Amino acid sequence: MKQHVEKIKATINELKRIDNKKINTKLDLNKSERVLDKLGTLASDCQECEQQLVEFENHYNQILDKNKHLQESDYKQHKKLIREAYSHLQKNHKLLPEGYYLSVFISVGISIGVMFGLTIFDNIALGLPIGMCIGIAIGSGLDADAKKNGKTI
Ligand SMILES: [Zn+2]
Repeated sequence: MKQHVEKIKATINELKRIDNKKINTKLDLNKSERVLDKLGTLASDCQECEQQLVEFENHYNQILDKNKHLQESDYKQHKKLIREAYSHLQKNHKLLPEGYYLSVFISVGISIGVMFGLTIFDNIALGLPIGMCIGIAIGSGLDADAKKNGKTI
């Protein structure tokens, strides 16, 4: 499987070298690489990861072939593949998207901030930023931990 991942990555690198902004942003190649890395390490124990790797390999070969003649349907297909891989990794391997805790705790922080702002401080303008800062602190801490433990995609 390692070989497959290396091959797909080589294809992605070629795509990056084409230096076509549209391809780079629409395909979100850095994110694709992170997904591929995870699939690659999990594929030895998980058939679905293995199968998705094969699909990615075919898909990127096609993309590279078409290169300047890529159409909306190709981008759509790409999004679909990434989305499927993402949901599989989240559901079956308990992985989290990057920045997951940050987004969760910012919204929790904001609601708590508003609540305290309304009750204890009697001033929303004061409670809101405090809640948000605490949310950012907790969220980014948890994200860093998750990343260190290889739990993020
Ligand atoms: Zn899997």
